[in-house]
Amino acid sequence: MVYDNISIKINISKRAKVLRLKMVFPLKLVITIPYYLKSSYDANNIIKKYATWINKTAEKQIVKAKELLPHNYLNWSSSEKEEYIKELKIKAKGVLSNDTEYLANKYGFSYKRLAIKHNKSNWGSCSRKNNINLNINLVRLPKELRYYVILHELSHLKYFNHGLEFHKLLNSLCLAELGIEEKILEKAIKNYPII
Ligand SMILES: [Zn+2]
Repeated sequence: MVYDNISIKINISKRAKVLRLKMVFPLKLVITIPYYLKSSYDANNIIKKYATWINKTAEKQIVKAKELLPHNYLNWSSSEKEEYIKELKIKAKGVLSNDTEYLANKYGFSYKRLAIKHNKSNWGSCSRKNNINLNINLVRLPKELRYYVILHELSHLKYFNHGLEFHKLLNSLCLAELGIEEKILEKAIKNYPII
């Protein structure tokens, strides 16, 4: 038996050559079955066969969720999740506008427009037109990591790439403002899920 709060997605893939199981945080089991093997595999049997691995991986994610997601998040209904996103949006508009303005003024950057969005794929981005986008999820992070992302996007106003000069600038800003190296912050933020 596997935990019932794991959601399961079956993927029949023409590119996959072997059966693959992946647990996407939080608790989404993705089973990829190669197209040519689809008739010989049954999802229920796969789950039974790999139950030990699935449960062990799920347990680790539950521990991580307790640490990094709102209290009891895994048991929230979809309307509770929507409500939470609404609250995050309101909070993010205030906090992220203030933070960005503060850091831009302090370090001499000027951007055109700041957009605060709910997206699932990145913490922030900067366009060639000098517009900055920030993810509402940033307000769930410790201040150091929030600042790190904003400093990253501000640095793109000077260097529109991830080259040596860009990292030199970003690292100096991280040290000046937070006293922490960019590399450490970059690693730390990888622990945090975007919801
Ligand atoms: Zn970047």
